[in-house]
Amino acid sequence: MEYFSSEISKLIEELSSLPGVGAKTAQRLAFHIINMPEESVQSLSDAIVNAKKNVRYCKCCYTLTDSDICPICSDMTRDHKTIMVVENTRDLVAYEKTGKFQGVYHVLHGAISPMLGIGPNDIKLKELMHRLQEDVDEVIIATNSSLEGETTAMYISKLIKPTGIKVTRIASGVPVGGDLEYIDEVTLLRALEGRTEL
Ligand code: ZN
Repeated sequence: MEYFSSEISKLIEELSSLPGVGAKTAQRLAFHIINMPEESVQSLSDAIVNAKKNVRYCKCCYTLTDSDICPICSDMTRDHKTIMVVENTRDLVAYEKTGKFQGVYHVLHGAISPMLGIGPNDIKLKELMHRLQEDVDEVIIATNSSLEGETTAMYISKLIKPTGIKVTRIASGVPVGGDLEYIDEVTLLRALEGRTEL
């Protein structure tokens, strides 16, 4: 038996396909949206469509941005010779929130995972190596401490070592398997300050 009209069911179905949204939350959101003024619903849907249309990769660090070069890479007061390698834009944001990192980033968009069939060519690694042809003092590898994150860190360090550029790894104060974005700023800062050379 159908409890809801098909339009409501469709909305619930779309919402429940989002990460972290279960069936109950999807229902609650759907009824909330239906009760919202029409212009608010329009502005919500415009925001979703415009973000999808206009957001792209920064040509330098590959973070998600709406300009060719992101605000961090365009900032000439930052130290462009220190590059922190992170798995995704959410991790970059977590480090930016500490306000203590003055270097720039490189976003891999994933980690090497033989189990999931994700190899070095599936993440932005070639792009990182290309950047290292410029004048770089240090590459800080801040991938997660999960198996995939560690595998990726090892792989990158082996790749960079022959170039003579200093490679460091953030301290493992970060809980195993923990997503960087959920870790508090103090822990992140400690991990950054306690980094060791690979
Ligand atoms: Zn950038």
